[in-house]
Amino acid sequence: MQLAARRLLPEERLMSQERRYSFEFFPTKTDAGHEKLMGVARQLATYNPDFFSCTYGAGGSTRDRTLNTVLQLESEVKIPAAPHLSCVGDTKAELRALLAEYKAAGIKRIVALRGDLPSGMGMASGELRYASDLVEFIREETADHFHLEVAAYPEMHPQARNFEADLANFVHKVKAGADSAITQYFFNADSYFYFVERAQKLGVEIPVVPGIMPITNYSKLARFSDACGAEIPRWIRKQLEAYADDTASIQAFGEEVITRMCEQLLQGGAPGLHFYTLNQAEPSLAIWNNLKLPR
Ligand code: FAD
Repeated sequence: MQLAARRLLPEERLMSQERRYSFEFFPTKTDAGHEKLMGVARQLATYNPDFFSCTYGAGGSTRDRTLNTVLQLESEVKIPAAPHLSCVGDTKAELRALLAEYKAAGIKRIVALRGDLPSGMGMASGELRYASDLVEFIREETADHFHLEVAAYPEMHPQARNFEADLANFVHKVKAGADSAITQYFFNADSYFYFVERAQKLGVEIPVVPGIMPITNYSKLARFSDACGAEIPRWIRKQLEAYADDTASIQAFGEEVITRMCEQLLQGGAPGLHFYTLNQAEPSLAIWNNLKLPR
């Protein structure tokens, strides 16, 4: 006799999902940088991640480099690769052409974003204003060909009016047709759990995968975090400041802090981890090894 399957509670559903692990790169400007990146990717590939992703300069500034990097990751490193694609500053015709190229090349996943135009490129131009518009556009153009990832902000997007408005915009973006989400990085697991709980209460069922930023360099991290609205808790900031130029201590402390946070995230049901590698293998792999993640 077969028993009817019990409907899983949201927490159980999250726990039961197979977890996914991914690494993010940015496209390099030089051939030497590109070769180095491919070496990093080969090293990370031995850990058998679910996919690599490669960022896109809003306004199309890295259009060819993102495309080439993704194609090479797929064909030579043999790991599925997901290009990021942003809509500010790109016309529908440009986006349509790029989608056709990705589709023809067998790419199956896209990280769909609004993007931020680099300063000096003026106000947002382009025909699509928000990431939700891009998600809708990709669905109209290519139906279900691509698995669509979108961005999520547990600590709120820096331009959002407030947390509730940002959450409502996130829910709208998911309902436009996203399959999963990757968060901006954060150093406070509670902000992630709160965000996911609130999104689930508003009907979001897709996996929301935490984006993980290894800590390797305090001044760069502080600059990035100010720009993207990620809060570095005081106790972490003070400790990192105290290490000054002692890179080894910064890295050891950073590794411990991030490993512990990832443990909390995974124990609390996070459906995987997405590492912002900044094109370096070691910091992400140290965390992966500490967590004894599957290879
Ligand atoms: P959206 O979801 O469109 O949100 C942007 C802002 O608009 C938010 O404040 C939101 O609340 C608000 N908003 C959304 N919809 C509406 C609406 N209908 N009405 C009013 N307000 C609305 N940037 C790059 O340039 N290239 C990359 O490759 C890249 N990769 C990223 C990967 C990840 C995982 C993450 C988290 C971010 C990435 N970014 C990248 C940064 C991202 O482009 C910026 O954070 C950008 O400012 C917002 O993009 P979004 O897709 O989240 O935008």
